[in-house]
Order: sequence, then C-alpha cells, then structure tokens
Amino acid sequence: MTDQANAETIAENLSGVREQIRQSCERYQRSPDTVTLLAVSKTKPAEALKAAWQAGQRDFGENYLQESLEKQEILKDLDICWHFIGPIQSNKTRAIAESFQWVHSVDRLKVAQRLNDQRPEHLPPLNICLQINISEEATKSGITLTELPELAAQIAQMPNLTLRGLMAIPAPADTQQEQRKPFAALQAALFELKADHPQMDTLSMGMTGDMDAAIAEGSTMVRIGTAIFGARSYPA
Ligand SMILES: *Cc1c(COP(=O)(O)O)cnc(C)c1O
Repeated sequence: MTDQANAETIAENLSGVREQIRQSCERYQRSPDTVTLLAVSKTKPAEALKAAWQAGQRDFGENYLQESLEKQEILKDLDICWHFIGPIQSNKTRAIAESFQWVHSVDRLKVAQRLNDQRPEHLPPLNICLQINISEEATKSGITLTELPELAAQIAQMPNLTLRGLMAIPAPADTQQEQRKPFAALQAALFELKADHPQMDTLSMGMTGDMDAAIAEGSTMVRIGTAIFGARSYPA
C-alpha cells in the first residue's frame, strides 16, 4: 500500500471508531465527550501516527519504550499527548518519566517511587493509572483489588505524580455480558477509591474487541489499536 492510501485508510478507520464510540455512548446514555480515544500505535511506523494526527487524533498509547522514543523524535513538532501502556522495567523509569504525560501500567510501589523521583521539575506531574489484574490471571501484570487501596494511598502522597485512575486488560470473553463483568468490577473499585481520592477520574478500559462493553461500564478512555491501524505483525 502507498503511504497516501494507508493514510486514507487510517483516517477512515478513525472516523469509524469515533462513530462507534458515539453510538455506544448513545446506547448507554452517556455524553460522547466523556470517553477519550487513545490510539494504540505499538509496532506502527511514525507515518501511521502522523496520518492519525492529521485526522485529528492527539492521544497515542505506546508499549515499547525504545520504539516509542524513536517515533517521538520524528514527530516532535506535533502536539501529541504520549501515554505509556506497556509493562515497565524499573531500569526504564527515567526515560518514561521524561517523555510521557501518562503512564497506565503502574503495578508496584518501586516503579511509582522511581517515576516520582525522576519526573523532571519543569514538567507537570505525571498522570498515573494503576494496572489491575482484574481477571486474576497468574501470567498477567497488575495488582489485585485487595492490594489496591494501600498502593493508591502511597502514590497519592507523591508530589510529582497525579493518581488519575485504573487500567485493566481482562481475559477474553465470549459474550458481551461476560465482557462487562470485569469492567463493572473496575468501575466499582474506582467508585470506592474516590471517597479518599476525589481527583481519580479515569477508567482506562476497552480495546478493539470489547470497547462497547467497556463504555457500558463507565470507561473514560478506550485504548484502540487494531481498529485504527490494522492488524499488527511482530518480527519473529
Ligand atoms: C495493544 C494494546 C491495546 C490495543 O489493542 P487492540 O486490540 O489492537 O485494540 C490496548 N491496550 C494495551 C495495554 C495494549 O497493549
């Protein structure tokens, strides 16, 4: 595909996703401006992100630090809000603290402490979501709901971080009804936390396959890759 054709496809895909968000919001009686679309651009080249930006997209989610930093350098003149959504190795926290506005995948105190200590002083506090292993899968990152209140209380004390909300990647489910259960649990957990942390306003949940279920349960930020940029091919 030529770059031009590819750019047109991305622009069409984006407007399709926006329309789906609008329809889901209507179905669940929510205002469409309460759901932010995060374009997940892992493995995709800088030109693909630029095409999405030209079609009005401003929030981009990335999983791999080195890959993202290369794209950020190429796209540095564009007003993009960068979100880190991948697993975090503690030796990578400095670059994350310096180069992103949001981190959705914080799952331990040590990582939060380092992000706080390494956030440059000239930048506003880093927006943080705690990743919850909502389906309690042994292989998945994230904390349990039992561990959540203590970690939230600790992070809320850190001056260079703003605790914004919760993120989860539930196990795949066959039906819409099954998809909604873990999202409902995340929404309930946020509601409880808000009593102590009223600034928490973000539910980062919903991907290409379960966006409607997530919006039904109060998602405020859907993380969409495939439906915007097409399938990903990973190097073998
Ligand atoms: C890749 C990824 C997404 C996007 O998934 P799609 O199914 O392509 O929409 C969302 N969130 C996280 C954390 C991801 O790693």
